Amino acid sequence: MPSSIPQTQTAGWIQDPGPDCVLQIRKDVQVQSPSSGEVLVKLECSGICHSDCMNLAAPGKYTEVPGHEGVGTVVSLGEGVSQELMGKRVGIKWLWSACKECSNCKAGKENQCSKQKNTGRSVWGTLQQYVVASADFVTMIPEGVKSEIAAPLLCAGLSLAGAVSKLSPELSAGDYVAIVGAGGGLGHIGVQIATIKGYKVIAIDSGAQKEKLAKEMGAVAFVDFAKQDPVEAVRHLTDGEGAHGVICVAGSEKAYIQAPELVRNSGVFVCVGLPPDTFMFPMSPIHIANRGLVIRGSSTGSSKQMDELLQLAVEGKITPKVEVYDFADSPKILQELQRYEVTGRKVVRAP
Ligand SMILES: [Zn+2]
Ligand SMILES: [Zn+2]
Repeated sequence: MPSSIPQTQTAGWIQDPGPDCVLQIRKDVQVQSPSSGEVLVKLECSGICHSDCMNLAAPGKYTEVPGHEGVGTVVSLGEGVSQELMGKRVGIKWLWSACKECSNCKAGKENQCSKQKNTGRSVWGTLQQYVVASADFVTMIPEGVKSEIAAPLLCAGLSLAGAVSKLSPELSAGDYVAIVGAGGGLGHIGVQIATIKGYKVIAIDSGAQKEKLAKEMGAVAFVDFAKQDPVEAVRHLTDGEGAHGVICVAGSEKAYIQAPELVRNSGVFVCVGLPPDTFMFPMSPIHIANRGLVIRGSSTGSSKQMDELLQLAVEGKITPKVEVYDFADSPKILQELQRYEVTGRKVVRAP
């Protein structure tokens, strides 16, 4: 590797995951070398996502370094990687790599590949100064999009682009879509994407800050779940029938218990938020059958959807709410995310 690249670096580090685990900032973490087909990226910034909390809580399932919304510059190439990538500004997403051979990969749905590797889960994530990425799976960041704006689009934005696309083909422009958790990092971009697609978005979340943000992003109504019963409020807004579609972005069990009641018969329910994997979905097959519900899962979007989203950002149509912080604030931001206190997205500058 070029001599300008140090052997050790500053990184966010998770030691002994568990209920009280806090992210550490370590200055002695090894800089990894890119293997064949990989590149080394010097990070400029990284968004911090609610699912990074999983690294803190789930022993053995994730790596020591969380983060999967990184933007930086390619500074070193592994064997067999095109020289053209050198010096390019790229994004590193949750999908670190996919097999390229299974039926999903061949159909352009590499985000559903069962052999995929994930940033922060299978390999060290983006809360470090230098991250190794798979050359074929980095996203080119177009000129005209600031790095701190691109960062949250890589997971939060792409997840919701994927989720909104799963309302098709059942829903059409003008239909009501309820988004549960509409004021958070993922939700607020989802409100904007769904609005661009012509849906009437009913935003569900809590607090004046999140209400303001959801309405700025285009929501036609806001339901504060701490003050109103969301099921009644949504039915009231939709002639008593419920929304045509609901996207559950919140990861709480309560949100999942309530969300199916927000949607009308033959509506579409898209699962995005991640409660602990011990939580089982409380719906009886009789209700699903009688109501003709369509239930879909969405964990992220495709590379085509990623490029479309960045293009919308270049055009100024997608405008995530981003606050930029020092790297040293990362442990605190993760704690705020665990308490669902973050409005919009917090991004940290790499040291
Ligand atoms: Zn994420
Ligand atoms: Zn595959």
